[in-house]
Amino acid sequence: MWGDPAEACAPEEARAWEDLVTTARRTVSEGLVVGTSGNVSVRVGDTVLVTPSGVPYDRLEPDDITGVDPDGRQVLGTLVPTSELPMHLAVYATTDARAVVHTHAVHATAVSTLVSELPLIHYMAAALGGPVRVAPYATYGTDELAENMLRALADRSGCLLQNHGTITYGTSLDQAYDRTAQLEWMCRLWLTATSVPGRSPTLLTREQLAEVEERLRGYGQRR
Ligand code: 13P
Ligand code: ZN
Repeated sequence: MWGDPAEACAPEEARAWEDLVTTARRTVSEGLVVGTSGNVSVRVGDTVLVTPSGVPYDRLEPDDITGVDPDGRQVLGTLVPTSELPMHLAVYATTDARAVVHTHAVHATAVSTLVSELPLIHYMAAALGGPVRVAPYATYGTDELAENMLRALADRSGCLLQNHGTITYGTSLDQAYDRTAQLEWMCRLWLTATSVPGRSPTLLTREQLAEVEERLRGYGQRR
């Protein structure tokens, strides 16, 4: 079934692969990842396209398309899929996600070593479903890490991974990516505010956040 990617892949999958590679490259060019850290996936029907493990994103070509089924069996391509398959597949199995982005963004990773939940420093936490939790540390690529992540993700579209990084999901690659960028920005904001000697930042209440959640439903241009 796999071995000749050009033959095996549908036009929809080829387009999704192109978008996935663009998103993966953005994680590097916009400073959320260094080298081959992090990974990206997108779901097309019952196939999950994923970045291959340890391959620099600027080297990825259309023929490098890499896809697995919901159980992690390879159905497209010959490159070894990301080592974080357990995390990506766990998100697809338990949510309506169409795309997942994992990074080692520096401010978010710093915060993951300091707290078990990102304090409510900004209302954009509402865009991720509420206060962002930190999943307890487990070795990268393990089922244990995926389990810890799922608990931290309950009712959220993103969380931090202790001493590791971020993971977010969305209904598109752009939404998953934007959520990571917002999360990294919020972590940077909290680190900046808490670094002023002798002062500590005011925080929002759960009630204030709930009001924003309601309001965000009508945010932006009417469709
Ligand atoms: P991969 O190159 O296997 O995707 O691993 C990168 C990573 O971030 C592991 O946590
Ligand atoms: Zn990682």
